[in-house]
Amino acid sequence: MNKGLLLVLSGPSGVGKGTVCSVLRKKLPELVYSVSATTRAPRQGEVNGVNYFFKSREQFEDMIARDALLEHAEYVGNYYGTPREFVERTIAEGKDIILEIEVQGALKVKEKFPEGVFIFLLPPSLDELKQRITGRGTESQDIINHRMSVAVEEMNLIQHYDYAVVNDEIDLTCKRIESIIIAEHCRKDRF
Ligand code: 5GP
Repeated sequence: MNKGLLLVLSGPSGVGKGTVCSVLRKKLPELVYSVSATTRAPRQGEVNGVNYFFKSREQFEDMIARDALLEHAEYVGNYYGTPREFVERTIAEGKDIILEIEVQGALKVKEKFPEGVFIFLLPPSLDELKQRITGRGTESQDIINHRMSVAVEEMNLIQHYDYAVVNDEIDLTCKRIESIIIAEHCRKDRF
């Protein structure tokens, strides 16, 4: 049996990775979604075990010590990480899994799984990105400014990715990602 694809959807905060992933989850129910662990507080409506596994710093550091994370990164003062076993088990079972993570974490996954499919989500423009970060309305000005400067640095890391997808219109974005998945399944080296 062929292994499943390990898909990494990354890109700057505010580009819409979360929205794209939740639409993809509905459109492609057979695509498995990796639920990350984080030390950040839940936002309104977020559910433990669905959006994230919400952890204390101590619990998170224990996961790092137990090598329970495939990758982790500290981002704007909080830890985020991908539970390792779930990812490894899913692809071993021949199912495709998608990780929605920030850029540093994606590069760490690439070191361990160079055969992964790395997709960089781009905003239509930087102005649009700023509007999206501000428009979320849940973050302070300091955090918004910090996220914008991180986002600009992150854009330079696009060279390490296999695909660049502009997130201009959600249905189109999902269609592009769906096409990437179909194409990756047709790679001759998978046969
Ligand atoms: P947010 O706090 O807005 O949910 O997420 C902040 C950033 O952390 C986003 O760019 C998101 O993609 C990223 N992120 C979420 N989960 C993970 C993870 O498991 N690992 C890494 N490295 N980044 C993550």
